Amino acid sequence: MKLKEVLPCMADPKKIRVIGKIDVEDFTQVMPYLARSIPNASYNEKSGWITFKKGVRIITIHSDSFVAMTQIKDEKEAIEILKEIEEKAKEVWKNRDKIDLNKPAKASVINSLDVYNYLPKTNCKKCGELTCMAFAVKLLNGEKDIRECTQLFDEEKYANAREALIGMLVAAGYDVEL
Ligand code: SF4
Repeated sequence: MKLKEVLPCMADPKKIRVIGKIDVEDFTQVMPYLARSIPNASYNEKSGWITFKKGVRIITIHSDSFVAMTQIKDEKEAIEILKEIEEKAKEVWKNRDKIDLNKPAKASVINSLDVYNYLPKTNCKKCGELTCMAFAVKLLNGEKDIRECTQLFDEEKYANAREALIGMLVAAGYDVEL
């Protein structure tokens, strides 16, 4: 496994966001088994990602073996998590006969109320929408960019909500370019 990118964490300046890569052969075949073996993981089979929470961290594993992690203490912690995922994936593959793929994995669905809950809810209209709910709907439809909610991005008190919303959108397969 290796680290690919280390970025600042927007929720906590003392932490980092990390993108790494695990080294697992035929990982796309391993994914359905892995998704059913990580407690509380959500799985989007069509888009090819698994996401789960590890403490405050949001971990997203993509079918191309890339792993995105938020709220990471340091590079050492990122390496440890990557190693854990890699070992788990290998172990799961070895024991795949014991995993029932007919058992539904927890599907991840994100809706406008989920997004709204992380917005400032002030209806300030700075994004050009009359309400935060209208913004949430358009964000999910791809008609709005998350950065257009300037309150969420400019005010430090929304840092945690911002980080959580970004993590949720990324986990749901949205392209969030920051
Ligand atoms: S800019 Fe943000 S806080 Fe203001 S209305 Fe739009 S979504 Fe709501």
